[in-house]
Amino acid sequence: MSLVVQSGVSLQAYNTFGVDVAARYWAEADDDAQVRQALEAARERQVPLLVLGGGSNLLLTTDVEALVLRMASRGIQVLADDGERVEIEAEAGEPWHAFVQWTLQQGFAGLENLSLIPGTVGASPVQNIGAYGVELKDCFLGLTALDRQNGEIREFDLQDCAFAYRDSLFKRESGRWIILRVRFALNRNAPLHLDYGPVRQRLLEQGIEAPNATDVSRAICAIRSEKLPDPAVLGNAGSFFKNPLVSTELAQRLQQQYADLVAYPQADGQVKLAAGWLIEKAGWKGFRDGDAGVHRLQALVLVNYGQATGQQLLGLAQRIQVDIAERFGVRLEIEPNVL
Ligand code: FAD
Ligand code: NAP
Repeated sequence: MSLVVQSGVSLQAYNTFGVDVAARYWAEADDDAQVRQALEAARERQVPLLVLGGGSNLLLTTDVEALVLRMASRGIQVLADDGERVEIEAEAGEPWHAFVQWTLQQGFAGLENLSLIPGTVGASPVQNIGAYGVELKDCFLGLTALDRQNGEIREFDLQDCAFAYRDSLFKRESGRWIILRVRFALNRNAPLHLDYGPVRQRLLEQGIEAPNATDVSRAICAIRSEKLPDPAVLGNAGSFFKNPLVSTELAQRLQQQYADLVAYPQADGQVKLAAGWLIEKAGWKGFRDGDAGVHRLQALVLVNYGQATGQQLLGLAQRIQVDIAERFGVRLEIEPNVL
């Protein structure tokens, strides 16, 4: 099938903030051939190509003078299965949470802590998605990507991707690679990660002492649903800031001032601070300016109450950044891709 390119398409339904900006051109790719056609179409029209998954890690501040290509390829296949360890490949356009649920239904463990993260399989390596003590890299086997610089297909293994905290080669070389499909190594007997946040406690409250991976997924879905706004109801892009990594000296100084500081020492000697705690402590939780706001239950999440523009949301984020730097001497880095 040949690619259909439309002009002047609203992106409101395609970004979870629900910001109403337009794409100069718009297309959806179901397979590799259509991805190549989109690259050609962008070249002919002399605009850049912007790859989009579920639009859940984006803040659009202006109309997009590009050909926006939504990855819509679907398909999941088992590549290898020795009865315990399995290798799975999923196409970039597969919705992430549905994919996780599919793995659990097959009895494959490993991705349960990453339940209910919006977006697509293809975007999952971009920021090495993470939640409740597990990161994508923990189950990652490899991926296939198209190099936009020379049109070649390249295979990546774990080392090649340079995964780090909410970061990867693909985030750092933004605009170069189009991820076509991702491979995962899962295991029917993978150890469960229950020690992070309220996961174990939630399971115990439900009377589950020996949980399986599906129990863990359900508990995490329940915790997340209570705390995080559903983008279908209230526009947001999840955590708006990364948790800052600071020096031990700064963390100790802050701890002397704030006994309740939430801080996690890292293996490399740095200390991870909970950005949400800093923002809440500074009084921003529940703050609202027009339709741009800080979520009332989770200060790390900026929300769009309806008509906020990307500029207004970015303006609010910048006010928070300045305030946190002045109060705590900590620089907050924005997590979503701002365009
Ligand atoms: P998009 O927003 O469409 O794109 C994000 C970036 O990736 C863009 O730069 C885009 O160009 C690029 N991209 C997308 N697809 C491809 C591709 N196939 N090839 C190359 N580049 C591509 N994140 C976490 O890490 N942990 C969480 O727990 C988490 N919880 C969230 C909860 C909520 C309510 C929301 C709204 C977001 C949350 N996020 C979380 C952020 C977000 O869901 C993830 O980062 C997700 O992986 C983004 O996927 P997407 O398909 O929506 O990407
Ligand atoms: P939380 O449980 O209230 O914890 C607050 C912060 O403390 C988290 O951001 C987490 O850092 C850190 N933390 C908690 N327990 C920890 C531990 N045992 N060791 C090290 N660090 C710990 O967080 P939350 O907002 O409800 O989110 C729960 C999980 O989902 C977190 O992992 C979070 O990253 C993830 N999440 C991510 C997004 C996103 O858009 N990126 C959105 C929603 C939720 P980490 O963030 O480093 O894990």
